[in-house]
Amino acid sequence: MRYYSTKGKAGGVSFAAAALTGLAPDGGLFVPETIPPYPPAVAASLGTMDFHDIAVETIKPYVQGEIPDPVLEDMVQEAYPFAAPLIPVGDRLVLELFHGPTAAFKDFGARFMARVFGYLRRGEDRSLHILVATSGDTGGAVADGFYGIEGISVIVLYPKGRVSPLQERQIAGLGGNITALAVEGSFDDCQRMVKTAFQDQGLQQRRTLASANSINITRLIPQAVYYAAAAGKAFTGKPDLPGGCSPWDPAGRPLALDSPHGGRCKPGQPITFCVPSGNFGNLTAGLYAMKMGAPIGGFIAATNVNKTVPEYLAQGLYTPQPSQATISSAMDVGAPSNFERMSGQWTLEELRRLIQGVWVTDEDTRTTIREVHDTQGYFLDPHTAVAWQGADRIRASTPIPGSLGILSTAHPAKFAEIVEPLAGPVPTPASLKQVMERKPVARIIPAERAALLEVLS
Ligand SMILES: *Cc1c(COP(=O)(O)O)cnc(C)c1O
Repeated sequence: MRYYSTKGKAGGVSFAAAALTGLAPDGGLFVPETIPPYPPAVAASLGTMDFHDIAVETIKPYVQGEIPDPVLEDMVQEAYPFAAPLIPVGDRLVLELFHGPTAAFKDFGARFMARVFGYLRRGEDRSLHILVATSGDTGGAVADGFYGIEGISVIVLYPKGRVSPLQERQIAGLGGNITALAVEGSFDDCQRMVKTAFQDQGLQQRRTLASANSINITRLIPQAVYYAAAAGKAFTGKPDLPGGCSPWDPAGRPLALDSPHGGRCKPGQPITFCVPSGNFGNLTAGLYAMKMGAPIGGFIAATNVNKTVPEYLAQGLYTPQPSQATISSAMDVGAPSNFERMSGQWTLEELRRLIQGVWVTDEDTRTTIREVHDTQGYFLDPHTAVAWQGADRIRASTPIPGSLGILSTAHPAKFAEIVEPLAGPVPTPASLKQVMERKPVARIIPAERAALLEVLS
């Protein structure tokens, strides 16, 4: 598979080059030359296949000739020792993506990326520096994924004071090969600083740099896997039943199932996914899964007041904005970088057919957390609550023909300071308890290019 920049069809690079450079030399984002369809036998059995097998089938064509199949099989086994259950809650299906070590969906991308980088850099003696700008969850997932990997050092930039205490410990509590930089500015500032570092020719000669943001194609591709797996389950009418990997007492959760097996699935009909969105990597991965042939009917892109993409879909004009702070902080992105991939690979008309945009205020997000807990006994984190509420808004005007899936991108205990005053005590998973015992150590730097260059010198 060749990868091209969103800014021009010239050249084309290998998967390894796209992975290790992150951003194309012209400042564009790498996209695969085609989005390969699943073989018909795979497409027909997504509902019954093992998650790891779906992962191999989904990722294989993107890395063909560069990562041998047995290596890829080991990578997905090691990257995903946890599940992505599709749980009926009330009248919809919640795709719980928070069962990994940092309790957020970014574990899916980051853990795969760490293994790809480890493999591609095997035998190199010059160490690789990974630069990550994070609004909260990316940094933790990347730090965790790469912690202790030899020959790779990770530098995480996060907006000082705008991440939760837990996120700060996930980013800045590891030490070792992970360096945390608390930037006096916004997430957009962090992202801009990383972008300029990559465009600095002098620095490029002195250091081997790589990015780990959702602009990196190795994060995007594995995210298509859980869409395909969940869409398959909904299509065959086989959601996961609560319990097992659910983090709280399933007995406390009233479930209104349509049938003992089907839950809220509408078998034989494609599912519509509502995706809580910030940088739009997750939604772009969903578009890839749909194009590959997973039974997906469409998407709802739900944002907080950082509503650049919903406005683009409504008005046809892309107007990036400075980001505004909200309680769904991992989605505080006014200039979503993956928009370039969406608009590079699909026209506005196509995007309008595939995606409905909606945005939700903090006040409505809070009300949703309270109401869903009161009526369903289910805890939503603020990001998932944006999606839950966004889907209700869309449904009020446009009926959704098949089942409705909500992507749950973080465990509610990760945002306990917001969720608990609204819904009561949230049981904390063991992984998060351990993180809270760490002491965060970060270097505070101004939001200036020079400050980052000094750290890297
Ligand atoms: C990163 C993140 C999002 C937004 O995902 P994008 O791929 O950037 O759109 C949503 N929810 C949580 C919890 C996140 O960490």
